Amino acid sequence: MAESAAPLPPGAVIGILGGGQLGRMAALAAARLGYQTHIYCPEAEAPARQVTTLGSQGAYDDEPALLAFAQAVDVVTFEFENVPASAARRLAEQVTVRPRPEILHLCRNRLREKGFCNANGVPTAPYAKIPDRAALDTALAEIGAPCVLKTSELGYDGKGQVTLQGVEAAEAAWQAVRAANAEVPAILEGFVEFRCEISVIVARGPDGSCRTYEPVENRHKNHILHQTVVPAEIPQGVARRAEEIARLLAEKLELVGLLAIEMFVTKDEQVLVNELAPRPHNSGHWSLDAAATSQFEQFIRAVAGLPLGDTARLCPAVMTNLLGDEADDWATLLAEPDTKLHLYGKTESRPGRKMGHVTRLQLRA
Ligand code: AMP
Repeated sequence: MAESAAPLPPGAVIGILGGGQLGRMAALAAARLGYQTHIYCPEAEAPARQVTTLGSQGAYDDEPALLAFAQAVDVVTFEFENVPASAARRLAEQVTVRPRPEILHLCRNRLREKGFCNANGVPTAPYAKIPDRAALDTALAEIGAPCVLKTSELGYDGKGQVTLQGVEAAEAAWQAVRAANAEVPAILEGFVEFRCEISVIVARGPDGSCRTYEPVENRHKNHILHQTVVPAEIPQGVARRAEEIARLLAEKLELVGLLAIEMFVTKDEQVLVNELAPRPHNSGHWSLDAAATSQFEQFIRAVAGLPLGDTARLCPAVMTNLLGDEADDWATLLAEPDTKLHLYGKTESRPGRKMGHVTRLQLRA
């Protein structure tokens, strides 16, 4: 579809592939700007479906259902990158898809992602493609231990990845990662002795305008994001470099939408890119309560071709994810001063499942 830079008028329908909490919070932001959202997902019941009346249930490879969805909306975006790129391409023949499907294709695969960064002069951890067991031995000799073996696709929150302390761990790591995903080559990454993990969220509109949020620090527990602390306590030069990387990648990708870039800050203050996500990101949830424009509103603004909003932070804040039964403490959390609670409407609680988050605002010095 030919791209139009004209803004989508209020009342237009934004189609979102995926029905999770990111789609839910994006749909709420869209509603505030006067848009309707149409959620397409395989589940009959999903967090995003609860907040909008338009929805379709279908698999991501169900072409007739996808084409009917394309006809019912004015633009399509997605809330997670594991939508098959083939589905996004098929949709793009019928309707504008933002970000473009090629970005989805790139960002759903760690090898392509890192290759793209390095080709544009953006450093990552050293890595190698591991199509078979022999390649693992060769790469281990080159990269050295400790290192991390990961599936190149479909792994998240630490799923499908194993840290190796030495060559003796190679066979078990290989078996574990193949069990998680044997369809695509794995990736071996050098282990980064990081000082901290940060992320930057950048938005880019169809007219090429670009806005970044300041870097935030991400703290993980059991490979799952536990807390985001904003601002990140990093030297100004490091923060500037991280934002420059975000802007460069958004431009090189010809992004229209939102891109989250997870990075490591090493002890000698290098900034290495770990992962790209072309959508709203858990590490941007703080912006709902502590920024002039939330990441969800910014996402909708970019996808709809509206002017991008101010990304200024209003106060320091700490966002904490509520996993599993941690969300049962909602009454206590609501009673805390300067604390904003967000629950995602998930009916089934499982250990490790993201049920909501709280943002604690630091309103007083
Ligand atoms: P990922 O799925 O790549 O985001 O990895 C999840 C978490 O594992 C990261 O946020 C890091 O805490 C850790 N991790 C992943 N890759 C590496 C690496 N190459 N070096 C050090 N830690 C890593």
